[in-house]
Amino acid sequence: MIQLIKGFKDILPEEISLWQEIEAAAREMFENFGYREIRLPIVEKSELFARSIGDTTDIVEKEMYTFDDGRRGLVTLRPEATASVVRSYIQHKMAAEDPIRKFYTIGPMFRRERPQKGRYRQFYQIDAEVFGIASPLIDAQIILMLVSLFERLEVTDVSAHINCLGCPTCRPFFQKALYSLLEAKKDALCENCVRRSEKNPLRTLDCKVPSCREALAEAPSILDFLCSDCKTHFDTVKQLLDKQNIHYQVDRHLVRGLDYYTRTAFEILTTSLGAQNAVAGGGRYDGLVQALGGPSVPAIGFAIGFDRLAEILSQTRTAAAKRPKIYMAPLGETCRTLAFEWACALNLSGVPTEMDFEDRNLKHHMKRADKFHAAHALIFGDNELTQGHAVLRNMETREQKEIPIVNLVTHIINLIR
Ligand code: ATP
Ligand code: MG
Repeated sequence: MIQLIKGFKDILPEEISLWQEIEAAAREMFENFGYREIRLPIVEKSELFARSIGDTTDIVEKEMYTFDDGRRGLVTLRPEATASVVRSYIQHKMAAEDPIRKFYTIGPMFRRERPQKGRYRQFYQIDAEVFGIASPLIDAQIILMLVSLFERLEVTDVSAHINCLGCPTCRPFFQKALYSLLEAKKDALCENCVRRSEKNPLRTLDCKVPSCREALAEAPSILDFLCSDCKTHFDTVKQLLDKQNIHYQVDRHLVRGLDYYTRTAFEILTTSLGAQNAVAGGGRYDGLVQALGGPSVPAIGFAIGFDRLAEILSQTRTAAAKRPKIYMAPLGETCRTLAFEWACALNLSGVPTEMDFEDRNLKHHMKRADKFHAAHALIFGDNELTQGHAVLRNMETREQKEIPIVNLVTHIINLIR
């Protein structure tokens, strides 16, 4: 038997109503805030991710699905959406007409990680990005929108964590201070962090290895190195969130797994998923559009881990399958053909109707109707046909009604809808 590849998964019909509910809530929330959907390719040139996410990040170093596409060179299954959104923004010269754009996109991402609970090789993200707004107002608004979406979905057990990652003016001073500590603690660090210390010291703060965490517990915080512009920006974001009653914690050591972030960075963490505790993450990336060859346009965005969010919600919700309103219970060949016609007409009119495609007796029909949790069964044999009516049975109360055969579909629609 051929099974799916480890780290990939099927999202089965039993789970899908929850996924649809989450998606609908996200769409509604984002559209109300003026975000418009954008759909982008799943494969892009590898260079796009190497240049945006950063050569020394986990994603680019070891998690990308890259293959040689002949003349097209190296291509990669997208590990995240931001890079593609930025590419599209630049490619279609969107800034020329109006630099301010708000997008959202929902779809699969691919990372060759070690598969485990909450960590898949194909997973889904709900992503939102804003271009062209430098004001801290948008930082506060995008965090408010994200937190409100979780509230709307009644996700409890989540908390917002924020930090400021500085800018090219102030970050080098912090990197230097961090580097000194890393040098001093070299012996306690994992191999990865020793390597990262040289190339990208900030990344060490994101390391999950316990000995590194311990060694870096007293690490300096970027917050003590912010230039006055970054400090004012961060203070304003916090004040705006306070005013809106959005609860958050300042996490002085929060960094993000991608290189492009500047200033505000945030994560939504949960305690109900074990080790994989981040359900969403995002931040400002003011330099990325320009770094990828576009104009100098500030930007901010976030990505929600769809799988993890669905996992949290599935712990408290039982998904109800859609129940048919009518179950057709025809007796005999002639009636079955009629049932087929009526079922098609009812389905097309928005009355969910099921039928058995084999010839069955009444007992079997009633069992199936119960199994489907159908609201009603429509019972009719040759006798009923000659008398000119079918019997509509309420499956819960067992109450029965006669429905005229002539214009039966209309009668049922009027009765049921
Ligand atoms: P983590 O620290 O869990 O590896 P990350 O920083 O790599 O997360 P981001 O790139 O910020 O993740 O992606 C945003 C969100 O996407 C994460 O908060 C998480 O919920 C989800 N996510 C990331 N990688 C995976 C994965 N392999 N499987 C499932 N969800 C994922
Ligand atoms: Mg990761």
